[in-house]
Amino acid sequence: MTVRKLFLLSLSFLLLSCSKAEAKSNSVAKKTEEGAMDSPEITKLNTIFKNMNDEAKKTIISGNKEEFLNDLKIVLNEEKEFSSNDIDLLYLIDKKNKVGADYVPANLVKLVKNNDFSINRNDLSLRPEAYENLKILSKAAKKDGLTLLVSSTYRSYEYQNKTFNKWVEIDGLEEAERESARPGTSQHQLGTAIDFGSIDYEFAETEQGIWLSKNAYKYGWSLSFPQGYEDVTGYRFECWHYRFIGKQACLFQKKWFSDIQQYMIEFINSWKNSN
Ligand SMILES: [Zn+2]
Repeated sequence: MTVRKLFLLSLSFLLLSCSKAEAKSNSVAKKTEEGAMDSPEITKLNTIFKNMNDEAKKTIISGNKEEFLNDLKIVLNEEKEFSSNDIDLLYLIDKKNKVGADYVPANLVKLVKNNDFSINRNDLSLRPEAYENLKILSKAAKKDGLTLLVSSTYRSYEYQNKTFNKWVEIDGLEEAERESARPGTSQHQLGTAIDFGSIDYEFAETEQGIWLSKNAYKYGWSLSFPQGYEDVTGYRFECWHYRFIGKQACLFQKKWFSDIQQYMIEFINSWKNSN
């Protein structure tokens, strides 16, 4: 069964299970029909949903909007705790939304040899929030008998520039775009993304790859480029690439956005930028 079929199955299941919650809120909806105004937040939510493209709309799990807004507040509060000193943890960065050539995280912690996880080079660094939560993640993996290997972390604009040009030379522009990021468009520039293990498709079948795909979200780490969503994320499936977004954001993404990080972060971005 393809991931997309599985996803559609789970979507229909969730829609079914949400119908109870909707029945409960029917009285609220009726009141609104009879002339009472929606709260400003519900109106804002409706507008954002309406402006989403059809593919994105399909991933939104229908349910009680008050509950959605409540969950959203929890996510935004968690984000504030992390982002005091830098750009937002849930900052939207993708092929269309860039950071400047001069953006460098306010703080970068150098990764050194330790007992929790392995590193495969000496020039790795992360934003402090991501570093602290990498330690928690890898301690949990250790408990299950696995040592995570961190292979790539923060990448500067210049580094991305060099890498991208190298791949264009090797594979041509079109092919390079599918796997490598144009400078300024990589989650790695934020200092909150990690490539684990061998950075290839075989990683998905390793014990570490399987463990991460099952457990990373419990510690705030989210798979950025899932299988079957290249048209949405702009990238092929990358089983090795995780971004730290916080535990609550991971739960929010699973509960309301079919676990598609891109859609959740696009939504949060629209929410922050609309009145
Ligand atoms: Zn990566």
